[in-house]
Amino acid sequence: MKNKVIPYGRQHITEEDIQVVIETLQSDYLTQGPKIAEFEEKFAHYVGAKYAVALANGTAALHLCAMALNVKKDNKVITTPITFAASANCVRYCGGEVVFADIDSDTYLLDINAVRQLLEASPKGTYKGIIPVDFAGKAVNLEEFRELADEFGLWIIEDACHAPGGFFVDSEGKEQFCGNGKFADLAIFSFHPVKHIASGEGGMITTNDEVLYNKLLQLRTHGIVKNNDLYTNSVEFAGGKEAYPLWYMEMQELGYNYRITDFQAALGNSQLQRADEGVQRRREIAKTYADAFQGKNYIKGQSGKVEGHAHHLYVIEVEDRLGLYNYLREKKVFAQIHYIPCHLMPYYRQFGWKEGDMPNAENYYKHCISLPMYPTLTEEEQQFVIDTIDGYYGK
Ligand SMILES: *Cc1c(COP(=O)(O)O)cnc(C)c1O
Repeated sequence: MKNKVIPYGRQHITEEDIQVVIETLQSDYLTQGPKIAEFEEKFAHYVGAKYAVALANGTAALHLCAMALNVKKDNKVITTPITFAASANCVRYCGGEVVFADIDSDTYLLDINAVRQLLEASPKGTYKGIIPVDFAGKAVNLEEFRELADEFGLWIIEDACHAPGGFFVDSEGKEQFCGNGKFADLAIFSFHPVKHIASGEGGMITTNDEVLYNKLLQLRTHGIVKNNDLYTNSVEFAGGKEAYPLWYMEMQELGYNYRITDFQAALGNSQLQRADEGVQRRREIAKTYADAFQGKNYIKGQSGKVEGHAHHLYVIEVEDRLGLYNYLREKKVFAQIHYIPCHLMPYYRQFGWKEGDMPNAENYYKHCISLPMYPTLTEEEQQFVIDTIDGYYGK
């Protein structure tokens, strides 16, 4: 234990994962092969959505979502300050304006009441959409957000990067899985190594909307269409006689190359098979932490309401966070801070955001620390983390 670093999160690559990647490397396809379609189909099934589009990374997924929903210059979009900056940046890529709304101090999620206040304070049509984030793996109650969004004519992009396998319980008592497309127009995931499913770099968009789905496919590959029914140039121009020739295609919009490779998709597929196991193990780890910290007044643990939590992160709030962070680091426990409030990043300050704008988020940032949380964290390692924290606070 003494010489081994315990990080806050890490990937788990098995022999089987390695084998499928090797097989793909030896196949005819390095990119745009059968593994991508397989990954999309299996992932859509896993989260319970109709369609899935695999992409180069989660940030590309967010960018294409904003494009598909037509975010334009100065369009206002609401999101949470306690998230990875990419959740907000996708609006800026399209020239839109990011409007932050504060978090709920118990759940750390975007506070629906804060969002409602913003919406009610402006004429209808002022805001175009909301990007709630299933922060740390806790699912946002999207049924409530959908109702609010419908009232004001907004779309929803669910940033579900932390929460594959997470769910909330709806008003009828049903489990609604993150990214199932029932309430959000689009949902996005990331397969960066610290996330639940690792493909190196990688991302996914899920949706139940066929029109958006087709648009995303087009935007993923340069805005190119390959469908006889959709061409706008004539058959004659294309070089055909009665029909468009086989080689023909049209670039109809300004898209990107945001494709994932086939060997990454193969790795994603293999990892996806163990996704449920991983979430299960994360829930065990969370329970061990929660039990160990119960009744200790130097720790404010995660909210008691943990049903459906996917536990990407295990966040606690403490006094003297810097001291604890450094002490853990000395003992080779590399805890992490999630997140520095996005509205106070120098980039966003230029738009006028300042300290005091989001009191709950800013107060949370003063105390939060993410403890090691990943399926291969051993019981012994976890106990070491707990004992080290207790040791620091002198218990
Ligand atoms: C990881 C992450 C992203 C971005 O995903 P990448 O694959 O790293 O581009 C976006 N939002 C959240 C909340 C994330 O955790």
